[in-house]
Amino acid sequence: MYDQPLPAVSFQAVTKRYGPVTAVDKVSLDIAQGEFFALLGSSGSGKTTLLTLLAGFDKPSEGQVMMSGVSVSDVPPHKRQIGVVFQNYALFPHLTAAENVAYPLKMRGVARSERDQRVRAALGLVNLSDRLDAYPIQLSGGQQQRVALARALVFSPAILLMDEPLGALDRRLRDQMQQELKRIQRELGITVIYVTHDQSEAMAMADRIGIMSDGRLLQVADPQTIYAAPTSHFVARFIGECSILCVKSTEGGWDYDIAGARQALSSPAVGPIDIVVRPENVSLRSPAKEPIEKAFSVPATIQEVIYLGAGWRVALKLSDGQSLLANVMRGDDLAGNLAPGAQVIAQWQPTSVAVLPAEG
Ligand code: ADP
Ligand code: MG
Repeated sequence: MYDQPLPAVSFQAVTKRYGPVTAVDKVSLDIAQGEFFALLGSSGSGKTTLLTLLAGFDKPSEGQVMMSGVSVSDVPPHKRQIGVVFQNYALFPHLTAAENVAYPLKMRGVARSERDQRVRAALGLVNLSDRLDAYPIQLSGGQQQRVALARALVFSPAILLMDEPLGALDRRLRDQMQQELKRIQRELGITVIYVTHDQSEAMAMADRIGIMSDGRLLQVADPQTIYAAPTSHFVARFIGECSILCVKSTEGGWDYDIAGARQALSSPAVGPIDIVVRPENVSLRSPAKEPIEKAFSVPATIQEVIYLGAGWRVALKLSDGQSLLANVMRGDDLAGNLAPGAQVIAQWQPTSVAVLPAEG
């Protein structure tokens, strides 16, 4: 325990209210040194407010923000060693790329010769060594965002905050910048807190993801765990596609029952439960075929078939009226043979579902 490094950032029961609105609601969260942490949530969930409190542009109504174990309540923004990149790059239009990047060094009173050297290094890091003298208007959106990144990194901050930084870029450029941001983060070993409402972006980049809704931090975990083991209906629905089935647990909680088919649970359920089933974990077979070993099987009727290129998305209805999604790939049992109205058996491995306490 004692040689554990202190978290780079620690939010301790942080609440921020704006009048009647609770923008951030009792958030407690530790972020490790060198971690790439994504804050994911829809618009208005409190992501930007949380960054604002860390950057020091505003103060919490309650709770504490710590950096490396020290409270930063009385530390002004420019002394917090935090670089910030926003979606709107906010470059100075009348300054060149190099002058924009030099700005935070000037503010910190860094001498000219050192400034030049650090500006070159920072613009080199973002692959813009050949555009030192360009004005923002002469640069593409992606290049402007690189300048903003270089400006945020030039004073060697301990932490880099990015708020929807790629939101204004088109898909291809976003993918490319995602890779590059990961490279830069690895090269510098810097702690990154990255705000996005795009789940695939969070999944692709982050060591851990924190899901926010209504100012609350609902779940914090690595991408695989968030996807495979959501702890709430909100998180299950927010990340990827899924069916949430209302099931009856039986036999003291050791089994569940869906539309008359029964399946054992690996540990007994306490109280009413729902299960989360991802469509890629559901396969279909004709009722005439043998069941797959250990799989849970339930009869279903095909409602709708959507062609996705790589396969088909099939909407099904169970005999108790519940809906279920399945992905069928080329080469699968019923591929090319899916028709609305057809009776099939839907099946999945019991270990592929997540169990949630039933809602409401
Ligand atoms: P996100 O970045 O996830 O979209 P925000 O942190 O910007 O969410 O906002 C969270 C909530 O706080 C929203 O309801 C927003 O309207 C409110 N809010 C944010 N900043 C202010 C402010 N300065 N004054 C009043 N309300 C604010
Ligand atoms: Mg925001």
